[in-house]
Amino acid sequence: MARLVLKFGGTSVGNIERIKNVARRVKAVVDAGNEVAVVVSAMSGETNKLVGFCRDIAPLHDAREYDAVVASGEQVTAGLLAIALQELGVSARSWAGWQIPLETDGAHGSARIMRIDTAEIERRMKEGQVAVIAGFQGIGPDKRITTLGRGGSDTSAVALAAAMKADRCDIYTDVDGVYTTDPRIVEKARKLDKITYEEMLEMASVGAKVLQIRSVEMAMKHRVRVQVLSSFEDKPGTLVVDEEEIVEQELISGIAYSRDEAKVTVLKVADRPGVAAAVFGPLADANVNVDMIVQNVADDGKTTDVTFTVGKADLALAIKVLEDNRQQIGFRDLHTDGNVAKISVIGVGMRSHAGIARQMFTTLADKGINIQVISTSEIKISVLVAAEYTELAVRALHTAYGLDAVA
Ligand code: ADP
Ligand code: ASP
Ligand code: MG
Repeated sequence: MARLVLKFGGTSVGNIERIKNVARRVKAVVDAGNEVAVVVSAMSGETNKLVGFCRDIAPLHDAREYDAVVASGEQVTAGLLAIALQELGVSARSWAGWQIPLETDGAHGSARIMRIDTAEIERRMKEGQVAVIAGFQGIGPDKRITTLGRGGSDTSAVALAAAMKADRCDIYTDVDGVYTTDPRIVEKARKLDKITYEEMLEMASVGAKVLQIRSVEMAMKHRVRVQVLSSFEDKPGTLVVDEEEIVEQELISGIAYSRDEAKVTVLKVADRPGVAAAVFGPLADANVNVDMIVQNVADDGKTTDVTFTVGKADLALAIKVLEDNRQQIGFRDLHTDGNVAKISVIGVGMRSHAGIARQMFTTLADKGINIQVISTSEIKISVLVAAEYTELAVRALHTAYGLDAVA
């Protein structure tokens, strides 16, 4: 007997037939003698629709009300799955974030989990009741509903698994595991049996949507065993594990892309101490996450340009914050470009091998793809390119690093 947390994503609960299918899967796990908690996402497309409603009324809307609206999708699927389980004769009860409670900080729209009290859920699980938990949502210090950022149901599931000391957290989705790159754009992507927490963290942080980054951070910190697998097929997925568990480490583990960022260029700021703080301080205060940053040395010794990327969803807010602080920053102009994609190569092998970056740059050059911004970490290189080159760049790099599956 094991204690398991099973998470089902949007496509897996995308319609009533699929919710019934999930109920059958959950029943099989219960019948095998396991204690089970289930975390569900909203039906696929539902959260986007709700976000769209908020934006249509006001592009810069109140984050508390955004949370009240977008958290509703998960409540629907939690209730429906509980009903579907009951129909199969399985004892089940749904839980909204506040009912658990799953307490978060007050950063509405991308709140962090602070504390989860799983005592009551665990008591019921021991009696054979399945807890069906609405993912993505919690309760803030102001007692209002919060959400954990897009893709946040993964984080709900891993956090619950950590809190209730589950033996494993199974993330059921619409692909059968973690691949060397998104299998939806590279046919020759290869499925990985295992991936290290660290590499998964980098993959998630640069846009591989298969797991939300915070869920991987949480799994790594609390050593939760995570498996990514298909909700439509019966086969083992990918295990996220410690480095020691992987016998032979690949040089490059994968390629990822993100179309979720936008480029901002602040033109003609003074080249003197304090300017970066003047630009990025107010953005941080407004909870705008900045990712890649480049700043040139002034060729005239006086002014320079600062280029950086922010999440597309934050672009309107970033522009407003910069304009509001125009006096203090002292820039001449602001250029923005939402038509960009970030392409990243990830691999722990980078620590010990030279030439990985050069291979990336020459591969992109051979395809005539211009690089706009570059950033690196110990085990990752990312470049910003025009969005129309996304697929071409990812496929070319996948081949160049020898990742293509052999037919
Ligand atoms: P869910 O709704 O189940 O949470 P997501 O859409 O959030 O599903 O995540 C699954 C998707 O992640 C897949 O459909 C796939 O297109 C995408 N993806 C991106 N990179 C990868 C990768 N390296 N391996 C597997 N899937 C990936
Ligand atoms: N439904 C939320 C989203 O689409 C959370 C999730 O699916 O993980 O972002
Ligand atoms: Mg997801």
